Amino acid sequence: MTKVSAQSYRVLLIDDDEDDYILARDLLNQTPVIQSLEWADNYEDGIKLVLQDSHDVYLVDYYLGAETGIDLLKAVREKGSRAPIILLTGRDSEGIDLDALEAGAADYLDKNALNPTIVGRVLRYAVHQQRTRNQLEDALTKVTQLEQIKTDMIRIAAHDLRTPLTVMHGYIDMLLEDLKDDLKDNQRTYLEQLHHSVERMQRMVQDILSLERILEMSGGHNNQFDFSALVKNSFEHYQKQHPHTMTLHLPKDPVMVYGIEPLLREAIENLLSNAVKYTPKDGKIGVDISADADFILFTVKDTGFGIPKDLQDRLFHPFYRAKIKEARKIEGTGLGLNLVKNIVERHNGNIHFESEYGKGSTFGFMLPNIEDD
Ligand code: ADP
Repeated sequence: MTKVSAQSYRVLLIDDDEDDYILARDLLNQTPVIQSLEWADNYEDGIKLVLQDSHDVYLVDYYLGAETGIDLLKAVREKGSRAPIILLTGRDSEGIDLDALEAGAADYLDKNALNPTIVGRVLRYAVHQQRTRNQLEDALTKVTQLEQIKTDMIRIAAHDLRTPLTVMHGYIDMLLEDLKDDLKDNQRTYLEQLHHSVERMQRMVQDILSLERILEMSGGHNNQFDFSALVKNSFEHYQKQHPHTMTLHLPKDPVMVYGIEPLLREAIENLLSNAVKYTPKDGKIGVDISADADFILFTVKDTGFGIPKDLQDRLFHPFYRAKIKEARKIEGTGLGLNLVKNIVERHNGNIHFESEYGKGSTFGFMLPNIEDD
């Protein structure tokens, strides 16, 4: 990138009107931050010079023959230029200022209200602001790369852990069985705890691998199917296994969605499993589907522990678990809600969530409704 001197800048004016150039030159000569001013009198040369990163800052007129300064901005930004560009607008330029900023201009100047002080300030500000923006972009690229490395490492570790964990699980099973008459009580407890810990690790590995599958959308094929039937099936499975009072409310007609059925089943079951996990046995769980012309809303409402407001922000982040005293002994990986969020977003849906500590929670999601044909 071009080095920017502390006080004065090499400026390129891109303007197809020579009179404008002369006016600008006279004005910029009175502006102390200008080291030199060069002139490009057409759109193509302007683009070429910006892409060569030949100057510290660029002043671009809005009217450039058949093109506009906004076209130029878009063209150079598309080609990766991060140069500070200031658009020169005229009296009839209502709205252009915002378009310019959106297209990546550092600032804009009304040509009819120029004076050396304003120009000096805008130039300094534009160069400084662009430099900060570039630093932020570089930092973001670095963070994204690191994030990718971290995700890859977790994924590789999860893959590689699967086999040794299965072996450990198998041998602990064998030891418990083969030595069942010879083990002292404390030895049996050690082995059982080991067994339990290995199972926890297996669940974590499973969740990590599920996340990977979801991110790659490789959990099955897209199909049109009855979402109500899927929910009913999962609901009945959970109802049989848990003591909570569970109710189900479904619309009369089938509710068709387009998506990957096994993934949506995973999302539904994660929410059901959380509701039973974080609700005392005598609590209530209500499962509901409602639909209008555009959306389907699926919710699981429980009368469980609820989540304090200050712990709600990060619930859908991977590995996050809200630390509340009621759930201290409940095990989990903190990946379930993140899996649900990813699945829902992959189906162009949105998460629905509300919770009150001590009263209960409602978790769910909205999916686009499709016509039943
Ligand atoms: P896990 O249940 O494995 O910890 P999740 O990602 O499914 O992970 O959930 C993240 C956290 O959100 C849980 O640890 C828990 O604190 C909170 N949570 C999720 N569902 C509920 C619920 N229905 N009621 C209360 N807290 C919940």
